Amino acid sequence: MNKLKSIALAIACCGIASPALAATTVVNCGKLLDVKNGVWRDKVSITIENNSIVSISAMKTDPSHIDLSGYACLPGLIDMHVHLSHDPKPQVEQLRDRLTADTADYAYASIKLAERTLMSGFTTVRDLGAGGGLNISMKRAIESGSIIGPRLFTAGKSIATTGGHADPSNGLSQAMRTAVGKPGPEQGVINGIESAREAVRSRYQEGADLIKITATAGVLSQASSGENTQFTDEELIAIIKTAKDYGFRVAAHAHGNEGIKRALRAGIDSIEHGTYMDDEAIALFKKNGAWYVPTISAGKFVAEKAKIPNYFSPVVQPKAAAIGPLIQSTFARAYKAGVKIAFGTDAGVFPNGENAKEFRYMVEAGMPELAAIRSATLSAAELLNQSKRLGSIEANFAADIIAVKGDPLKDISTLEKVDFVMKDGVVYKKPSLK
Ligand SMILES: [Zn+2]
Repeated sequence: MNKLKSIALAIACCGIASPALAATTVVNCGKLLDVKNGVWRDKVSITIENNSIVSISAMKTDPSHIDLSGYACLPGLIDMHVHLSHDPKPQVEQLRDRLTADTADYAYASIKLAERTLMSGFTTVRDLGAGGGLNISMKRAIESGSIIGPRLFTAGKSIATTGGHADPSNGLSQAMRTAVGKPGPEQGVINGIESAREAVRSRYQEGADLIKITATAGVLSQASSGENTQFTDEELIAIIKTAKDYGFRVAAHAHGNEGIKRALRAGIDSIEHGTYMDDEAIALFKKNGAWYVPTISAGKFVAEKAKIPNYFSPVVQPKAAAIGPLIQSTFARAYKAGVKIAFGTDAGVFPNGENAKEFRYMVEAGMPELAAIRSATLSAAELLNQSKRLGSIEANFAADIIAVKGDPLKDISTLEKVDFVMKDGVVYKKPSLK
């Protein structure tokens, strides 16, 4: 792994150090998935200059080319919902960390999570919430080459209401809450439209790429409900209108039906989880062109962990057992009804790097393999407002390429074993370097 890293960094350094000299790389693919047309192209050479694809042609064999002639190439995968700041832990350990760990402790521990995510074939992710500016600093560290990880779009700190999902003082005793002080808009906690606007502006100030709100209660917070509505209509409208002023898109964590519908009516761009959506909510998704980001993987993981005594606290365990198993069938209904789906897993709730399992769950629920791959390429790029640069292998796109053995259109689980990863023209993983 160290050798691999140094090679990747060496290539990264040279590409960045001399942008005037177009560093040309050619990748030969046995087949290449044209995601837009839904067909394989056989035996192609992809020519890359610096960080961009410049052309795709019939395969020319040359010893200097990267030989993936025995592999299927696809665009780098995109996950719309991750938390690179942590991996799952029993809640007793999480509570201990809250008392003893600083942001830097979480940040150092998260370096390997970012690397693992990239090495599993996810070249771009949307990080939907971390405290202390961790995900924003991580984005800078990846961009500067200090650490290895996927291209990051980040929400900074997600926005909650007092006592709501993602209020950082949730679950603390009264004495502790007094000691740490009441979190406000700067820390992502609002009450009323003035602080709603201020919280969005604070995200702009901290350098976020988008806004994330917790429109309803959630499974893993230390609070009794997993689904109640946590923002008023006025607060949602204030957040979304202010976000638009700054060019932000807004993602809403939401399990409960009323919170889902309020967020959709207020003009939300994506609903995350969406567990209890009813037919009226589905109609609103379609009317507004809003995206659904399912996170089936997180649901399945917490449902399994809910069976282990003391893994979750007594207040969280029943929520995990009730809500976790429902997401896959919600996904099946939404997909069948024609809701736009963008791939998202909520990695961090389950181990980062296992993101590709979501494909299997989507296919199990009735989505064809090609549609599942499109949700993690073309659709995810569209939700990111990056359709001209990400999600496809074609000229003028970022050189984000992965390769697998076998045919993911026939067996989607082949995406769980990615043998080649290139991001921005830099090779991070190669079959010969394993
Ligand atoms: Zn999440």
